[in-house]
Amino acid sequence: MSDAKSQYREVIPPHQEAFEGSPRQYLRTGTLDRSHLLALLRLGDFTNDAFIATDADGLISYVNRGAERLFGYRRGRVLGRSILDLLPEPTLGGDQPDAPGQMRALPLRSDGRRKDGSIVEIEGASTLMPGLTGMSHLYVMRARRTEIDEDNRRAQLASLVYRNTSEGMLVLDPKGFILDVNPAFGKLRGLHESEVIGRHVRMLNSPCHDRDFYRAMWRSVLETGSWQGEHWGQHKNGELYPEWLSINSSYIEDGSVFRRVMIFSNIAEIKRAEATIWKQANFDRLTDLPNRQMFHDRLEQSIKKSQRNGTKVGLLFLDLDRFKEINDTLGHAVGDDLLKEAAQRLNECVRQSDTVARLGGDEFTVLVDDVRETRDIARLIKKILDRITEPFHLGVETVFISTSIGVTFYPDDATQADVLLNNADQAMYVAKSEGRNRSCYFTASMQAQAQTRMRLVNDLHLALAQNQFSLEFQPIVHLGSGEITKAETLLRWTHPARGLVPPSEFVPLAEETGMVGAIGDWVFCEATRQAHEWRTRYLPQMQLSVNISPVQFRHEGIDLAFWLSHLETLGMSGSGVTIEITEGILLDSSSRIDEQLAAFRNAGIQVSLDDFGTGYSSLSYLRKFDIDFLKIDQSFVSNLGRGGPDFALCEAIILMAHKLGIQVIAEGIETREQFELLRAAGCDYGQGYLFSVPLPAERFECLLAQCEDVRPG
Ligand code: C2E
Ligand code: MG
Ligand code: MG
Repeated sequence: MSDAKSQYREVIPPHQEAFEGSPRQYLRTGTLDRSHLLALLRLGDFTNDAFIATDADGLISYVNRGAERLFGYRRGRVLGRSILDLLPEPTLGGDQPDAPGQMRALPLRSDGRRKDGSIVEIEGASTLMPGLTGMSHLYVMRARRTEIDEDNRRAQLASLVYRNTSEGMLVLDPKGFILDVNPAFGKLRGLHESEVIGRHVRMLNSPCHDRDFYRAMWRSVLETGSWQGEHWGQHKNGELYPEWLSINSSYIEDGSVFRRVMIFSNIAEIKRAEATIWKQANFDRLTDLPNRQMFHDRLEQSIKKSQRNGTKVGLLFLDLDRFKEINDTLGHAVGDDLLKEAAQRLNECVRQSDTVARLGGDEFTVLVDDVRETRDIARLIKKILDRITEPFHLGVETVFISTSIGVTFYPDDATQADVLLNNADQAMYVAKSEGRNRSCYFTASMQAQAQTRMRLVNDLHLALAQNQFSLEFQPIVHLGSGEITKAETLLRWTHPARGLVPPSEFVPLAEETGMVGAIGDWVFCEATRQAHEWRTRYLPQMQLSVNISPVQFRHEGIDLAFWLSHLETLGMSGSGVTIEITEGILLDSSSRIDEQLAAFRNAGIQVSLDDFGTGYSSLSYLRKFDIDFLKIDQSFVSNLGRGGPDFALCEAIILMAHKLGIQVIAEGIETREQFELLRAAGCDYGQGYLFSVPLPAERFECLLAQCEDVRPG
């Protein structure tokens, strides 16, 4: 007995010592008064421990509040269920009772199964009691200490989070009255908890949303228990800020709402970041103008709008004239300042509703909505041309620039955005080719020209593979002796349908499409092969010059290793070939031109400066880049007359070149007079129809074979 008693003591919490009398009485007498039992069970509601009584079949006949809490059931839901639903495998410690009368409390260890399916480790005791229908069990239980600790720990953690999170939290009763707020909420809204607790959540409605918004929000909460979305929160000081709001509900067992929890996160920072990203994606960083992407969106919008209203849209495509030269000579910082200033001037020329965009580089567009009269566009163009030609004061520099403008209209010229842009681009090119600082309206013939160009580009792709290229050679004559030891290599394209296409037509296309690299390689290999052959068969000092496009120097540059290995295979020295470059390339800081020219020089290849006089004619560049020959452009030669300005210029060029140790070749000599004048002025070499037109290889060879002296007269 003393044994049983001590076990019993274990399971009765100290504050329940007062009830010890009843079981003792039972223990003494072997009977338990029914009223005592009832009293005992009622008192069970005042302890935190769980009491459960079962009948002889193990069906639950009594649970106290503690058991409700421990297992998560409401009393009504659990009565009549098998104890095995709650204690699937009870393990009783100690000895089993010998006889029913011997009421002993046996220690109990078990996993308890809660209503929500979770398992709770249980400790306690159970005892058998005589009941009305046989022996029944009485269980006294509590969650094992560890579980309680865990629950407490979780509760503490939750409270810690609640108090310290940066998200504002607010707890509502089912009717929407505020029960509690966390400190973060107070900070977000600038409110003290005493100002909100007890008030209706309605007080937090912001003026940015109407009643329908809140109605829909709470309807969703009522129907689904939750809502989330963007909401404008209002600080006590009136300031509005974007927040992400989520509302969730918790329920009690009968399905009614217990609490609603609102969580507010300030998303102003995220919004700002989103806005920055959007701006970066849609606006040009340098000028702050809409970029290509944004321009396309606006153009699409304008087209849609004008479809609805039946109005016209005007599209201007602008390209600053000779901007690259300014960038290359004065530096990128000045170039950037110029672009910024140009952007600002363009914006000043247009209406608020028009869009000025920067497509990249020095290309701009102006989108003019709702064009009523083409005259308005003409006026705008004049304004832009005038504004851009005004001097730009950029730091210590004063820069003069102009712009070329292409114009097209929706729907007159095209109905699709990209076609319109193409049209305006083409018209701009025509404006440039007509002399710059002017505008040009798109016409259908430009369209036809553009199509021809496109076909030509397509055909150009096949030209190399289909052997449509050939070379012609134009003698370069020594003006003193009449000897021909040099010739210029000129590329020819025989188009299968169009016949001979002049290089002035296809070389720019090859440059634009990047094909000029491969074509240039072919020209170099073919020209050097020819030079080698003629050097071997006729003239050992024969030298052929090859034209190099500036584009060949840009990007990855010329594959000089390949060119030199080709020379090596031929067994020819670099002195058999000269490269002809134009002045523009010397100004191009991006092409590492000095390194590339030095590499040519190291290989013994000489350098001619072609078309001299049409570009910068800069003396300092001649010195810096170590040029061997200077070719006076034919535009000077064609106007030569003794005492005329061009003659003076030619004389000066020759004098200057000689001072720098550079030899001079005059291009485009067509008349005897030109020849005489140039020879008299000391020009070293001459090239032109007077001596010979460019000749195919076999005819040039005849010239060499006959060792013909082409000196006129
Ligand atoms: P360029 O290098 O200045 O070549 C001289 C041009 O003047 C050639 O035109 C030639 O036929 C022409 N010409 C020669 N003598 C006379 C004359 O007495 N009077 C007149 N009016 N013209 C004369 P072509 O062959 O049409 O070449 C035009 C341009 O195409 C060349 O100008 C050169 O810049 C370019 N080009 C030619 N072949 C190649 C090449 O293989 N590669 C590259 N990148 N460009 C080339
Ligand atoms: Mg040339
Ligand atoms: Mg030339």
